[in-house]
Amino acid sequence: MTRATRARINTDALRHNLTRAREIAPGTRIMACVKANGYGHGLVEAARAFRGADAFAVACLEEALEIRSAGLGHPVVLLEGIHRQREVELVRENGFELVLHDHAQLDVLEASGLPQKLWLKIDTGMHRLGFPPEQAEAVLARIQRGNLAEGPLRYMTHLASADELQGTPDTGEQIRQFKALTRDWPGERSIANSAGVIDWPESHEQWIRPGIMLYGVTPFSDRHGRDVGLLPAMTVSTELIAIKSVEKGGRVGYGGGWSAAHDMPLGIAAIGYGDGYPWHVANGTPVLINGRPSRVVGRVSMDMITVDLSDHPQARVGDEVILWGESEGGEARLPVETVARHAGTIPYELLCGVTRRVKFDVD
Ligand SMILES: *Cc1c(COP(=O)(O)O)cnc(C)c1O
Repeated sequence: MTRATRARINTDALRHNLTRAREIAPGTRIMACVKANGYGHGLVEAARAFRGADAFAVACLEEALEIRSAGLGHPVVLLEGIHRQREVELVRENGFELVLHDHAQLDVLEASGLPQKLWLKIDTGMHRLGFPPEQAEAVLARIQRGNLAEGPLRYMTHLASADELQGTPDTGEQIRQFKALTRDWPGERSIANSAGVIDWPESHEQWIRPGIMLYGVTPFSDRHGRDVGLLPAMTVSTELIAIKSVEKGGRVGYGGGWSAAHDMPLGIAAIGYGDGYPWHVANGTPVLINGRPSRVVGRVSMDMITVDLSDHPQARVGDEVILWGESEGGEARLPVETVARHAGTIPYELLCGVTRRVKFDVD
């Protein structure tokens, strides 16, 4: 049989979310994050939908080149920069912009003798990429001395906990520190990821860097995309491939960890961890069958899950099962944020994790 597992990508929703980001952070420029295959939505499809953005942000050169191959001439920012000499030419030829976050990258730029468009990254507490604030002046001097920057230098930092109002490190403190450090530096700045855009207006500055929100999803545990005016852009669905009944006490799936409390009908749906529906999804995780709520019972297999049909006496083989997203008309909804909570993960991982076996329909 052909596999019914599908990811439907709603490009109108993607466009809407870009407009929504502009509404929330008026007067800023938007660096749309399309890394990791456009958060699983398709890099080129996402970038085309976001062609109204002022720049794109990606993790690596391969992703940046894909944007150029699609015929998009926008500025493209490499969020991790480069650290190999042989990448320098390609970056310049394509006019890519580099995030500069480490001394080894300065060595590469100096050795190349080619100035590049640079974003200097400061580490204000995330302790991942970026120069410590106390090194910033020395780094600036080295950039100037080596004539390493083409055009004006720009500055960024990244928030570690902006999705939590009482997070650690303290978001307000990160923002204050960055602003204090860069106060007298000429040039544009960028702080905000999606959580910053939505909840921390003081982080907006000249450039925002939204990712997850452009796909209609929030980074928060207590609010979904629609709560902040965003429209989810990905729906993952499949079909029932078998219907059966199990008697009271019957055990379901690998390991037999779940047993029926009473006689009940079950459905088998064609999706599993081989499609990116995680093994960690717990018993009771909601799904929609023909637009109405049901739940997963037993363990997720590679190719299949089992669902409770107690409230679905009419269900038949071939009926639609939505794992997250919305029915075609939008009246039935299952936010990916909810499914992520049941799987002990974050919506980012679910969106990025849909595998190649799933058919993508872009509309
Ligand atoms: C991925 C990324 C973003 C976007 O984050 P979201 O939480 O998806 O909005 C912004 N800035 C940097 C440096 C990133 O790596």
